[in-house]
Amino acid sequence: MKHRIVVLGAGYAGTFSAGYLARQLHADDFEITVVNAEPDFVERLRLHQLAAGQDLRHRPLPEVFAGTGIRLRVARVTGVDTAHRAVTVTDGDGIDRLEYDTLLYTLGSTVADHGVPGVGAHAFHVAARPAALRLRAGLDELGTDGEVLVVGGNLTAIEAATEIAESRPGLRVSLVTRSELGGWLSTKGRRHLLRAFDRFGIAVHEHTTIQRVEQAAAFTADGTRFASDATVWAAGFAVHPIVAASGLAVETDGRITVDRQMRSVSHPNVYVAGDSAFVIAESGLPLPMSCASTAPTAKQATAAIIGDLTGRKIPAITMSYTGNHISLGRKDAIYQFVDRAGQTKPRPLRGRTAARVKSSILDGAAWALSHPNLGKPSHQYRSTTATAHSPELTTG
Ligand SMILES: Cc1cc2nc3c(=O)[nH]c(=O)nc-3n(C[C@H](O)[C@H](O)[C@H](O)COP(=O)(O)OP(=O)(O)OC[C@H]3O[C@@H](n4cnc5c(N)ncnc54)[C@H](O)[C@@H]3O)c2cc1C
Repeated sequence: MKHRIVVLGAGYAGTFSAGYLARQLHADDFEITVVNAEPDFVERLRLHQLAAGQDLRHRPLPEVFAGTGIRLRVARVTGVDTAHRAVTVTDGDGIDRLEYDTLLYTLGSTVADHGVPGVGAHAFHVAARPAALRLRAGLDELGTDGEVLVVGGNLTAIEAATEIAESRPGLRVSLVTRSELGGWLSTKGRRHLLRAFDRFGIAVHEHTTIQRVEQAAAFTADGTRFASDATVWAAGFAVHPIVAASGLAVETDGRITVDRQMRSVSHPNVYVAGDSAFVIAESGLPLPMSCASTAPTAKQATAAIIGDLTGRKIPAITMSYTGNHISLGRKDAIYQFVDRAGQTKPRPLRGRTAARVKSSILDGAAWALSHPNLGKPSHQYRSTTATAHSPELTTG
């Protein structure tokens, strides 16, 4: 019987991991199944562009995984039963259970509503494609006249506000943040950011906390009202509620607690990568939920899976974070580097060059993830767990 590896999610971490495992592990010993709610690989980093009205390139997962031997299940994961090593999924045919021997959890994150009443019912967000498309439809309805209120002061809020302002110049865009807009940036980076907001005519309300969202307005605790025809909630990400119900050990922020090799500390046959994993970086700070964090976490998780199942030595992947790359519409951006201790470096890359660099990094990542067969080794590792095969490298 083959060892069943189930990968939950085909975003940045899941698509990379599934492709890498399929290249490295022998198909006679391992069966790899990927479950994803969407039929495409979605470039989540461009969802603010989709919401603003731009079309993204389609990358159908059946094409991405063609020739890899990976089984694709387009379905929504509704539960992980760690006690029985099974995952519950739903699709057009109803509810199903998929059993696993090894699980790789890469379902990413969703929008964090922070318990603020009305966010779910009245606000839009851009954390997933269906949500971004709903916002796009909402903006289409407004046409060339209306108020858009973006709530949040971090990367996604900045990117959403500037993208909407640039793509839909008739709309009046404002942003409300409970702290300082881009307060973590270097002096030059922040100056550049504020100039861009000024250029786009985006009104900024700092040190203001939204406590309630209604149909056409958002309110602070003291009753200050912000009129809004479309409220975009971009106040952070949170892991999916599936995790809390799974019995996996989690941190206070809900992310899954893992060991240095990305195994769940409570369920070592469950590995985690991407936004769902809580990892302390070399800087001593937790890795942020970011695409930049998916690469080391996915590399470490796949290395550990291969090591645990085939007896190979598990390398220690460096867990570092080099900075954030913030788009300000299509022609401007800030690439803010941080040092090894997580401190902001003084000279960020700015302007058109930063925008071009960001776009080519995103295109390069999506292209690489869409070609999992490239770099396929001529040897695959055999299992030391499910079968009596020897652990040594054999010709695949
Ligand atoms: C608008 C926007 C802009 C961003 N910009 C940047 C940026 O510039 N730089 C940066 O570093 N990070 C950025 N991020 C964050 C980045 O997108 C995430 O950190 C990254 O996508 C995390 O990768 P992941 O593989 O963990 O999750 P994802 O890429 O989100 O993949 C998760 C996958 O799981 C699927 N899924 C989720 N729930 C279910 C379910 N219940 N059942 C089945 N499938 C499911 C999803 O469809 C998706 O395919 C941005 C995010 C957003 C929303």
